[in-house]
Formats: sequence, structure tokens, C-alpha cells
Amino acid sequence: DSVFAHIVLAPEDPILGVTVAYNKDQSPVKLNLGVGAYRTEEGKPLVLNVVRKAEQLLVNDQSRVKEYLPITGLADFNKLSAKLIFGDDSPAIQENRVTTVQSLSGTGSLRVGGEFLGKHYHERTIYIPQPTWGNHPKIFTLAGLSVKSYRYYNPQTKGLDFEGMLEDLGAAPSGAIVLIHACAHNPTGVDPTVEQWEQIRTLMRSKGLLPFFDSAYQGFASGNLDSDAQPIRMFVADGGELLAAQSYAKNMGLYGERVGALSIVCRNADVASKVESQLKLVIRPMYSSPPLHGASIVATILKDRNMYDEWKVELKSMADRIISMRHQLFDALNSRGIPGDWSHIIKQIGMFTFTGLNPEQVAFMTKEFHIYMTSDGRISMAGLSSSTVPHLADAIHAAVT
Ligand code: PMP
Repeated sequence: DSVFAHIVLAPEDPILGVTVAYNKDQSPVKLNLGVGAYRTEEGKPLVLNVVRKAEQLLVNDQSRVKEYLPITGLADFNKLSAKLIFGDDSPAIQENRVTTVQSLSGTGSLRVGGEFLGKHYHERTIYIPQPTWGNHPKIFTLAGLSVKSYRYYNPQTKGLDFEGMLEDLGAAPSGAIVLIHACAHNPTGVDPTVEQWEQIRTLMRSKGLLPFFDSAYQGFASGNLDSDAQPIRMFVADGGELLAAQSYAKNMGLYGERVGALSIVCRNADVASKVESQLKLVIRPMYSSPPLHGASIVATILKDRNMYDEWKVELKSMADRIISMRHQLFDALNSRGIPGDWSHIIKQIGMFTFTGLNPEQVAFMTKEFHIYMTSDGRISMAGLSSSTVPHLADAIHAAVT
């Protein structure tokens, strides 16, 4: 008998499991709105032209070898990533008080940051928004932190529960860590305004709460890299400390290459170098050093003016297509006279719309219309195209009436 005979079958991941179910469906009209990956109007995955170009340059460069990267990753990549998120002229970077390590996409950056905090930070409680990306509680629990939540979304308004958020952060123990979606909150698509960010910042700094930004969608939300990073830059500008996890999965379409970075902004350069030395002790026994290829692509693009500009154009066109899908879906629902206010579809930001559909309605749409999404009613706008909007609108119509 197997020594593993006692092991029970684990459930599928609630998000990735949607794709598993989709793949089994034989219907020609099936539609996968579960997974957060960009699709073209033709429903195909997209590799950016500028990424192909960078890969070509890398392949043609005979001097390139496959040696291990240092524990902290590719130095150029780290420097350029910090500039991308904090801004070209960030005083924190100029003062050498930022340490950046290359990590395995957003998830790996969150995990390394979580492990570091679990080992070295005095208040081992992290507040995450309610709701949030399903992986957050798991990542931070395994990192040894105690996970609590703060109010974020108001189902009545399908918008921000700003009062609830301030109340919960105000009641958090001083020094607690607060996980913040830098932009395009997943799954709700609801972000605070700049004025609200300023109030959140003031409250958090007055209580010594430590911000941990999760930036998985820089440039992907608004189409503009700087506006999407603005909340983070507000927190850097006040001179305080913070962590930021960056992912290049969406904004460069490098999903499977697993490219990301963790930056820790410290009070001064001395602290930053000690923090970096400890980050190395977190990373070494976890995966030794990060992968070379994806980081080389990113560094190639970010350090070349023309390629960087080309990337921005391609990034904007992905963001614009998603925004246009919001309008098309909104119009399609209105033209069917579907009851209710659907304006949240055009107000929400980023890859996802939090439709407000309940688990029963979602199950109905999957069964009758072969449309796949997470049971919380979150749909990926990037998985939608002009040709599939009518099918989705029909399904929503049938589900709510
Ligand atoms: N944070 C959030 C909020 C996300 O939506 C995602 C992607 N689904 C990630 C982090 C990390 O993704 P990845 O590890 O693929 O970069």
C-alpha cells in the first residue's frame, strides 16, 4: 500500500480551477472570464512586439551566458524596476534607501516580503482588504503573519466603503502591516480617489501602520504608468517606510516568465543595506536565486528609450481595449433593458469587473451559457471581446430576470 494512501484529494484553486472546468467544456460558445490574463479581440493570448524584439536581441547576443544570477537577481533589472514604480527622480532612490530584489513575479515578491516581516518585524499582524485576491491570506499566513481584514467594498454602492476602511485601520494596533492594492483592486476594480489616498496616508502614518503595496497592474489600469503608481509615490514622498511588490505579468504580458520585484523603502541607506542582507537570507533557502530570462527582457526594454516608448504604446492599447469592453458591456446590458444600475461596470478600474452577480447566478450562467468566472461574480474584462459581449449580456439578462 502507498505511504501516501491517507492523503485526501485537495480542492482545485478557486481561481485557477475555473480554467480547469472551462477546458473540460465542449461547447463552441464557451467563454472563460475567470483567469486574469489579457486576450486580444480574437480571444488569443498576446505577446507584446517589444517583448519579441527584446528576446531577439538577447538570443542574438553571443556573449550572453546562463550563469546563476546573484541571490538578489539582475542588478539592472532591480534598479530599473525601482525607478519604474517610485519614479525617475525619486528622492528615496537617490538617497540609496531603497533595496530591491528580483523575485518570482508578484506572488513571489509578496511571499519574500511576508517572510522577511514574519522574521524581523515587531508587529506580526497584516491587514488585508475585504475582499481581496484569494492568494493574499494564504501567502501571509504561511509567511508566519497573523492575517486580519479591513472593510473595503460596499456591496450596496458597489464602490469603496471609505468610512469602514478608515474605521478599521484606525482601530488596528499601531505598527500593524497593511496590504494595499496599488491600483486596480482585485477583485472589485474599486480604487480610492487621490483625496481619499491622502486621508488614508495621513491616518496610516499617524498610527505608524506599515504599508505593503501590491502592484500587479501598473499601467494596466489607466494606461499610464505614472498615474497608476501615484498612491505609492505619495507614501514615499512623506519620507516614511514601506514595502512594494511588483509584477510584470500583466503590464508586460510576461505571466509565465515569473518576473517581479520586491522593494523596501527604508529610513536611510544604512538600514536599507542591512535589510537587503536579511532578504538574501530569506531567498537563499527558498529558491537560491531568481530566473534570468524574464528579468533580462524587462531590463532590455526599460533601459532603451525607444523600446520603453514602444512598450508604453502597447500597454496603453491593452488598457484601452479593456476600457472599451466595459463600455460595450454596459451598453449591451442597457439596450436589453436589464433591471438595476450597471454603471459600476464603467466606474470600476483594471482587469476585473465585480458584477454583483451571486454564486447561484454565476452557476446558472456557467450551466446554461457556458460562461466561466469565479463564484464571487468577478469577470475578467480582458477575456471579453466585441464578439462575445452579446453572449455575456444575454446570460446576465437571463440570470437576473
Ligand atoms: N496581486 C494581485 C492583486 C493579483 O491580482 C495578482 C495576479 N493575479 C498578483 C498579485 C500576482 O500575480 P503574479 O504572481 O502572476 O505576478
